[in-house]
Amino acid sequence: MRILLVEDDPLLISGLLTALRHAHYGVEHVADGVSATQALKVNHFDLVILDLGLPRMDGLDVLRHVRAAGNDVPVLILSAREGTRDRITGLDLGADDYLVKPFELDELLARIRVIERRRSGVTVNQLQLGALKMDLASFAVYWHEQRIDLQRMEFMLLKHLVESPQRVFSRAQLEESIYGWGDGAESNTIDVHVHHIRKKTSADVIKTVRGVGYRLGEVEA
Ligand code: CA
Repeated sequence: MRILLVEDDPLLISGLLTALRHAHYGVEHVADGVSATQALKVNHFDLVILDLGLPRMDGLDVLRHVRAAGNDVPVLILSAREGTRDRITGLDLGADDYLVKPFELDELLARIRVIERRRSGVTVNQLQLGALKMDLASFAVYWHEQRIDLQRMEFMLLKHLVESPQRVFSRAQLEESIYGWGDGAESNTIDVHVHHIRKKTSADVIKTVRGVGYRLGEVEA
């Protein structure tokens, strides 16, 4: 899951980036409203965390802009305590949820999981493919009931595939979903992650689609 963080408070930015990356999300950050609309025009995101008080274009205008462009990306608003009217306007403009500053990081992460579940139509924090189970709250992965140790990128890659089990992804699409802008991923990195995931589980978990990329495989329970 790829998140765009739109926030101009330097203290919040570093804390949020650290927490979100630690929680295995791919995160990009911009600090003003105009950059936010530009980023959303050219890149796919699965969630926008949107501060309302922003330089150049305020958060509500960003939201108006994004929805008017037909982009239905989930949006979670961050607002000041006194901003009740803005929160209501934001929800009416199509925001999915809001948090009032200051908030607990754990609550933000829980609300992100709710949005993720809504998006994927799953009602629990667990993704399952036969003998493979992923717990999205604790980042634990189980293979035949045995806990296995996946690196952060491996977890993100596998989760991305499990969330869209029918879909074939190119290497470029997978790279985009798990790396940030300009992280300069080596062209063979996705193959390396896939190799490691298969080694830790089974070769059947991820299927190679020749000439295209990868898709989720089929695994017996
Ligand atoms: Ca602000």
